[in-house]
Amino acid sequence: MNLIFLGPPGAGKGTHATRLSQELGIPQISTGDMLRRAIREGTQLGLRAKGYMDAGELVPDEVVLQMVRERLQAPDCQGGYIFDGFPRTLAQAEALAAFTRIDAVLNLEVDDELILHRLTGRRVCPECSGTFHIDYLSDPQVCPTCGGRLAQRADDARDTILNRLSVYRRQTEPLIAFYRQKGLLRSVSGAGKVDDNYLAVKAALGVP
Ligand code: AMP
Repeated sequence: MNLIFLGPPGAGKGTHATRLSQELGIPQISTGDMLRRAIREGTQLGLRAKGYMDAGELVPDEVVLQMVRERLQAPDCQGGYIFDGFPRTLAQAEALAAFTRIDAVLNLEVDDELILHRLTGRRVCPECSGTFHIDYLSDPQVCPTCGGRLAQRADDARDTILNRLSVYRRQTEPLIAFYRQKGLLRSVSGAGKVDDNYLAVKAALGVP
C-alpha cells in the first residue's frame, strides 16, 4: 500500500505513521526526519534546508522531490510506503503523481489550540527518535525509552509554530481538495487519545 499522511504540524502524522509502518512492515518516509538527519550530518542538502526549517518555512520543492525520488529507489520501498509530511505543496503532489501511484491519503484533523499545546510541550530524543509530551513524562529531560537526553525541536518555538501553521493553511491545505477530487481522501479526527485515533486511522484505511 502506498499511503500519504496529511495534516497540520502536531496532528499526529508521525506517531500514527510509525505505528502503522511497523504493523504493515513498510517504511515510513518522513521528509522532515530526512532533512533533520541531513542537517545533523552537515551535508550539502542539510545546509540548503536549515534556514527554511528553522524559520518554519517549506524547503524548496525541487530539493524535497529529488530526495524523495532517490528514497523510493531503495529496495525496502518495493512493497509500499507511508509518506509522512510529504507532499506539502500542490507542485509536490502533482510531481509525485507523475512517478508513483498513491492508494489512499489519510487526513488528520486537529484545531490550532490543541496543536499549539502539543507542539510547545513536544520533546524528542536524538538517540532513538522517540517523540513525547511533557504532560506524560516523569522527567521532562530524560527519554523514557532509551535514557537519552530529550531536546526541543528548534522549530517547536511558539512563534515558529504559528508560522508553520500559517504555511500549512496556505500551502498544504489545498491538497485536501486535490486528493478528495481524486477519491483518495480519508479524514479522521486527530484530537482524541492516541490509541483511539490510531484505531480510527486503521479503520479509515481498511487495515484490519
Ligand atoms: P516536519 O517534521 O514534517 O514537521 O517537517 C519539519 C520541516 O521540514 C518543515 O517545517 C519544513 O521546513 C521541512 N519539510 C518537511 N517536509 C517538507 C516537504 N514535503 N516540503 C517542504 N519542506 C518540508
